Amino acid sequence: MTNEGRPSRTVNADLGWPDDWIARVSGEACSMCAVGRPDDDGYGLRILKARYSDAYLQRARVLTGYTKVIWRGRHVVEPTELRDEEAAGYWREVLLVAQAPAPLPAAEDELRDARQRRATPAHSPDAAVHA
Ligand SMILES: [Zn+2]
Repeated sequence: MTNEGRPSRTVNADLGWPDDWIARVSGEACSMCAVGRPDDDGYGLRILKARYSDAYLQRARVLTGYTKVIWRGRHVVEPTELRDEEAAGYWREVLLVAQAPAPLPAAEDELRDARQRRATPAHSPDAAVHA
């Protein structure tokens, strides 16, 4: 670590972190901020758009209903950087998602359909028909 609590380029090289790590941490090259608030972030489908966050039901089947709740305010790296009202709002939304009884059937169906579309090889007859 160096001044201001940010990793130095030397630390990055030692740990094998990406060359743009400093820019990512500063927000200059933050892909999570740059993506906006899409309905599908490539990793999952948004099942909740709330004041402080978006919740995405993940395509990766780590376990049924695996969902990420992504902060959607100003750029921060750690939740400890949130102001009190931001942290309270964010964690309240995390709890809202966690209290969902099960993955929403419509979201599960849409996610399954999207997974099947992605699974179709580009060289398959079906893909050629729709290309
Ligand atoms: Zn960011």
